[in-house]
Amino acid sequence: MVDFLKNRAGRQLFQVTGWGVLLWLGFFAFRNHVFAFAQLLSVGNADVIVISLIVLGISSFGYSALRIFDMRDEMDSRRRAFDAADHIATHDHLTKLPNRYAFDRFALPQAVASAGHETAAGEVESQTATVFSIDLDGFKKVNDLLGHQGGDALLKEVSRRICSLADHECVFRFGGDEFVAVARNLPPEKEQLFAQLLIHSVSRPVRIDALPTQVGASIGYARMPEHGTSLEEVRHRSDIALYEAKARGHNQQALFHPDMQEKVAQRAKLEGELRRAIEREAIVPYYQPLIGLKSAELCGFEALARWCNAEGTFISPQEFIAVAEETGLITILFEQLLAHACRDARSWSEPLLLSFNVSPVQIEDRLLPNRILNILAETGLPPSRLEIEITENALIGDPELAASTIEQLHAAGIQVALDDFGTGYSSLSQLARFRFDKIKIDKSFVSSCVGNDKNTKIVDAILGLSRSLNLKTTVEGIEENAQLAYFLGQGCDIGQGYIFGKAMPQDEAIAFMRERRQILSA
Ligand code: C2E
Ligand code: CA
Ligand code: CA
Repeated sequence: MVDFLKNRAGRQLFQVTGWGVLLWLGFFAFRNHVFAFAQLLSVGNADVIVISLIVLGISSFGYSALRIFDMRDEMDSRRRAFDAADHIATHDHLTKLPNRYAFDRFALPQAVASAGHETAAGEVESQTATVFSIDLDGFKKVNDLLGHQGGDALLKEVSRRICSLADHECVFRFGGDEFVAVARNLPPEKEQLFAQLLIHSVSRPVRIDALPTQVGASIGYARMPEHGTSLEEVRHRSDIALYEAKARGHNQQALFHPDMQEKVAQRAKLEGELRRAIEREAIVPYYQPLIGLKSAELCGFEALARWCNAEGTFISPQEFIAVAEETGLITILFEQLLAHACRDARSWSEPLLLSFNVSPVQIEDRLLPNRILNILAETGLPPSRLEIEITENALIGDPELAASTIEQLHAAGIQVALDDFGTGYSSLSQLARFRFDKIKIDKSFVSSCVGNDKNTKIVDAILGLSRSLNLKTTVEGIEENAQLAYFLGQGCDIGQGYIFGKAMPQDEAIAFMRERRQILSA
């Protein structure tokens, strides 16, 4: 009761009662006139009752009117609060663009429209919609370099550029650096051009705090109704196409094709299996011998990852390393394998070199030198026995970071080799800029070198260059005696290939070491 009197409805009842009492007193003060009026209408005490009923009626009416106004206000304010909450839930606070929840709602009427709608002339006009899934390339680097504020400023600018090409209400931010744009009734022949325009616009440099910065864009797109009957289905397919575009490199675009779906399903399966394999530590290093060509001595082993899955099939490292790189599993896999290899190398009877591959994605990890040093400290392998192999492609993304990583490794006494030389974005300036101890000539040159004049000249030039830069050379993929003779004649330092031995498990590597020693001493 007390609560009721405290709230607005209670107060109003109190007020209305007060007004009723005042009214009743008023009637009472002028009762002669009122009674005279009432007697005209009735006889006996009925006049008092009538007056009371009139007062009560007027009071109730006043109270109801007040309640109705009040309820209307309350509904208005509730609707405003709901609209505000809804806007927050369906819009990105940074770019102010609608988000993926807004897209789900946006999708429904579009799906209906896709069935075609009738024009004034009574003809059925078919509606199409092309969904473009846009993902920024290299955004993480901008965030790392300029901090989150810089990253936010870049995202705002990117969203502004996308909106200037597509209808504002058809651009969505799906999270992080993912955007979706829907183009209605865009002719198929113009879709590619539109995707190119988006890439071009997004990848133009942006100045943030007077610093010029740049990101790229990968775009996948799919169209309704060919690739799906609802916008959500089409968006899912444009995402699959985006995946394909990303695999092609930076600033690429791809139109959805049903074959892509199968590829994505297989990759998802491989990713799941890879996660489980890493958890069970089922991926192990094998060791391929590195032979000093002049002395014929075993000088070390290159560790190569081997994964035999539940069905007993070996999966190619090129396949699973790529998945590990894309999913970020590479760091844990690397740490597991390196620790395993360092422990194995510690148990070798000779202090041979352990050569270990680092993937390009890892070079972007500032903590890489620390991770390696921690593992060396934990396993007790001296840094001088470790060589890290880096491919040329790893150097182009962030050359400063790569140079600093290489310097830190050198400072700790670890050797660094340039792997697969001649296959990537080879530039002689890289050899001058980064300090390497060794160049590994890629096996593709070896297989085509003997009898191929052009390749022979390239290999000769690489060997001459490494001699003048005082770098050692390793030749990979020697399979035949003629190749061995050729590289030996050219003064190459180290050889690696099936002619000496394939990558083998630890116990076989130990046996190989023993046999090699026996052959040499004999
Ligand atoms: P890579 O670093 O260039 O390794 C050399 C590859 O050449 C190995 O292939 C090896 O088995 C193969 N090979 C060696 N000698 C011969 C030969 O005489 N003939 C032929 N045809 N091939 C030969 P594998 O083990 O399949 O590895 C492929 C690539 O996968 C490696 O190329 C490396 O880039 C990557 N990889 C392997 N293990 C790891 C790892 O632990 N971490 C990282 N990041 N990458 C790895
Ligand atoms: Ca290698
Ligand atoms: Ca190699």
